[in-house]
Amino acid sequence: MRLLRIPLQLVCLVALVLGAMLSSPSSADNSIDRHLARAEAVKRSQQVEFDAELEAVEAERSLLSPRQQEHLEYLRTWQHAYAGEFDAAIKGFQALIANGSDPLLRFRSRVTMLNSLTQTRRYAESYEQLNLLLAQLETVTDADARSQALGATAQLLNLVAQYDESLRYSTRMLEENSQPWSRCGAAQLRYESLVRSGKLKDVDAELLRWAEDCANRGEHVFAGLIRTFIAQLQMQNGRHAEAIAGLLSHQTTVRATSYPYLIADVAAKLATAYLAQGNYQQAAVAAQEVIDHTAADAYTESLAEAWRVNYQIAQRQGDDLRALRSLEQYQKVDRAYLDDVRKRALAFEMARHQSRAKAIEIDNLNQKNQLLNLQKEATNQSLQGGRLLTLLLITILVIAVLWLLRVRAMNRHFRDLAQRDALTTVASRAHFMEQSAQLLEQLRPTQEPAAVVVMDLDQFKHINDCYGHAVGDDALHRAAVACRNALGSDGLIGRLGGEEFAMLLPRQSTRAAAEFAERCRAALQKIRFGPADEAHLLSGSFGIAGTQGSGYDLERLLADGDAAMYEAKQQGRNRVVTRLAVPTVA
Ligand code: GH3
Ligand code: MG
Ligand code: MG
Repeated sequence: MRLLRIPLQLVCLVALVLGAMLSSPSSADNSIDRHLARAEAVKRSQQVEFDAELEAVEAERSLLSPRQQEHLEYLRTWQHAYAGEFDAAIKGFQALIANGSDPLLRFRSRVTMLNSLTQTRRYAESYEQLNLLLAQLETVTDADARSQALGATAQLLNLVAQYDESLRYSTRMLEENSQPWSRCGAAQLRYESLVRSGKLKDVDAELLRWAEDCANRGEHVFAGLIRTFIAQLQMQNGRHAEAIAGLLSHQTTVRATSYPYLIADVAAKLATAYLAQGNYQQAAVAAQEVIDHTAADAYTESLAEAWRVNYQIAQRQGDDLRALRSLEQYQKVDRAYLDDVRKRALAFEMARHQSRAKAIEIDNLNQKNQLLNLQKEATNQSLQGGRLLTLLLITILVIAVLWLLRVRAMNRHFRDLAQRDALTTVASRAHFMEQSAQLLEQLRPTQEPAAVVVMDLDQFKHINDCYGHAVGDDALHRAAVACRNALGSDGLIGRLGGEEFAMLLPRQSTRAAAEFAERCRAALQKIRFGPADEAHLLSGSFGIAGTQGSGYDLERLLADGDAAMYEAKQQGRNRVVTRLAVPTVA
């Protein structure tokens, strides 16, 4: 059997939950129902028996009731999804949703289809299905089906980094269903939100209790995933030995789940912890286990981590060729993984806006209808003493104001998205360029001065390669905030791209800009990032150009600032270089 390729706990959640569900044949004395129920019960654990049960049902195809026919179709489609044949699965589920007569089966089809859409990175469609699922959720009373849908929702929201929203659904899941699979699934999703969002900073008693409890109830996949969070928090707090001991004591159970994502996740954490301890041999073994449990075309966080560990080992052992090969692999996987993270967050945002815009449009239509009705009434009743007319006018006014407020709020949100760089929260490149060009045009007629500062963080690739992109992202964000705080309210700051930023200081000389750059440089050096037990320094190289030397054309100013920044790099980095005004020949 082919294993799923993408590292989503959703896979296991859906797989486990589906097994717990659909196991209630309407009449036990009907042999076809018995085969179907048996197939449901063994479909994850015993593929051969599962196939045999479906064959037995197929053999009696002519006797199947429409409900049984549908159930068979559902199981066949489920089989495609489990085998990683997602396109076939999506087609099958779409047909079941469109033509099926059993509402519960259609609902379950939607949940599994959502999973398949996410697996194939069709994020916009995933979001659309999610909305439909949530709309139907209120009418579904089956406790297991509800938990399954709540879990899938929380999982997708975690995937697009909407951790607070995800928490709402996993909390509901926890409250609604007391079955162990549902409670442990919900706990795992909750802790994923809490750890990834940084809200939970260290292991607490409740987290330990969940790991213990879920393991005791035989929910080994969820217990295993919860334990990876424990290990991660221990490592974040510098307790690598503790993390290793915890991971090793359950590794046999983890391997017995045959769930590749979990096995790779545990091994990746072990590799990192061993590396931190200087145990290269064990780190390499663990990294290899990650590689062995990840499909060749998959780009996962664990795989990136494994190659980063391999790179570090080779580098520390002085094996340059192996270091280079591992670094190439790391960068390839890491880039693909990051691309995917960004793509799904963007798709999610876009889909969300589209649905908001649609909701407002529908609202508008409804309001117009209301107005038409009022107008009709007004004419029918020949405007009794003008009261109805007043009412009509007030209604029109209220609707117009409400409409305006909503459109403005939405536009603000859209504008904010386009203008702000999501990672660093400073202006996006396009917005910075637009604002700066405008400002320079305002200064040009009076020849008031302005200066630009171009800043590029030093050896940033090294930071990513040593500590991983998450630490890199964090450093990038803090560097941008430090410079923005040093800038004050008059200046503009934007992210030009990667780890390069630009600042425009209106009505400032290049000397004042250099003083500012020095403050910014000092602020960067105060930033500490990365694992708690190591102190890491951040530095940047700054280039300055002013309108007196370069004129009021933004492109030219930036090019000159960039040249000065390059010179700062050449001179040894972590410094400020001002491009001297080129005297114009009269
Ligand atoms: P130099 O001192 O010469 O500037 O060295 P450098 O390593 O900073 O320069 P280079 O331009 O070669 O590498 C920039 C690196 O910044 C490459 C890329 O991995 C990293 N980077 C760019 N954007 C991001 C981001 O959004 N997040 C993270 N974590 N890294 C990024
Ligand atoms: Mg750089
Ligand atoms: Mg750069």
